[in-house]
Amino acid sequence: MIKGSYKNYPDKNGNFGQYGGRYVAETLMPLILEVEKKYLYYKKNKKFNDEFIKLSKDYIGRPSPLYYAKNLTEYLGGAKIYFKRDELNHTGAHKINNCLGQVLLALRMNKKRIIAETGAGQHGVATATVCALFGLECIVYMGKKDIERQKPNVFKMNLLGAKIVPVESGSASLKDAMNEALRDWVSNVENTFYIIGTAAGPHPYPMMVRDFQSIIGKELKKQILKEEKRLPNSLVACIGGGSNSLGLFYDFLDEKKVSLYGVEAGGKGIKTGKHAASLNAGKPGVLHGNKTYLIQDNAGQIKEAHSISAGLDYPGIGPEHSWLKDTGRVKYVYANDNDAIKAFKICCKLEGIIPALEPAHALSFVLKLAPKQTKRHILVMNMCGRGDKDLDSLAKHLKIKI
Ligand SMILES: *Cc1c(COP(=O)(O)O)cnc(C)c1O
Repeated sequence: MIKGSYKNYPDKNGNFGQYGGRYVAETLMPLILEVEKKYLYYKKNKKFNDEFIKLSKDYIGRPSPLYYAKNLTEYLGGAKIYFKRDELNHTGAHKINNCLGQVLLALRMNKKRIIAETGAGQHGVATATVCALFGLECIVYMGKKDIERQKPNVFKMNLLGAKIVPVESGSASLKDAMNEALRDWVSNVENTFYIIGTAAGPHPYPMMVRDFQSIIGKELKKQILKEEKRLPNSLVACIGGGSNSLGLFYDFLDEKKVSLYGVEAGGKGIKTGKHAASLNAGKPGVLHGNKTYLIQDNAGQIKEAHSISAGLDYPGIGPEHSWLKDTGRVKYVYANDNDAIKAFKICCKLEGIIPALEPAHALSFVLKLAPKQTKRHILVMNMCGRGDKDLDSLAKHLKIKI
């Protein structure tokens, strides 16, 4: 724990303790500084915030409901479990919250060309959606391997008018797509805005993405106080780059009695090396413009991440989480592929909710945590995405024909 408020971070250079910062090419520096300057201005601008809130309501469908999962609570016989229903958002996950915020900033900076990276395609779809809404050109960098495994999302992006650029370098997946997007940005400085999809990248991105996603925790605070007249005892969210979890946690960071749990993807097991658990099994290093925990080999080469859930399949993690881990404010655990599938099935049958495989990781931890608590313990899990996108890969994994 630290003295003072967790909300005083990052410092003005984008550092969360030793993490974060702005490790970028000289040519990118003026752009990043410009984004920071404009963001800090509009963050306090009433018109900007009013537009964000209005579209969050009318276009995304916020506030997302807070739902008491009665069947699951009775089944586990411990903590009272709530789901924050961000899977009900337009486009099916939390990613659109951030895309809406960033596109509103891009418009005010007069940038008409939007670029993005995507792994599973969820961030690509959310970006293509807000670009369609505002009539902006949209270019999405995507690993060649991911294009093959995520066909429905590629088709969706095409329908929405985005251009997809296949990336063949490196492991032809998310981290390489992010490298390409950064390269594009350097060479198209004048008219281009880069919408990063998680709380990673160079400062101000980790802060900005967190701020836009913090609408999740702000709503939750109001909803739970109305429902239970007190704050929850614990919050649980899954961790890819870390944006939905920070969005949920941020308004509770200074409420030190509220326990916070982030659930990473343990893939086939930490010991097999096939996982995406940067905080549980990685070491600090520099990638994509910031210092943070990374999955790397002894020579410092970034290793490929693995998870059944494409959205968690990232070898890094937003820098704020690295700091929250070291300060002990958030506890980071992990769930393996098979644990997530078990939790996924329980959720479908008991609650009639088909979750995405990402929050199924969070749920897997809830299944362990909740039975050890008393009935007075209030636990809220972020249901950050719905499962439609995962049905093909799940059927393949379970060897079921659909
Ligand atoms: C992308 C994605 C994630 C992982 O990203 P975070 O930045 O860690 O939130 C988690 N869940 C869903 C549904 C996603 O689409």
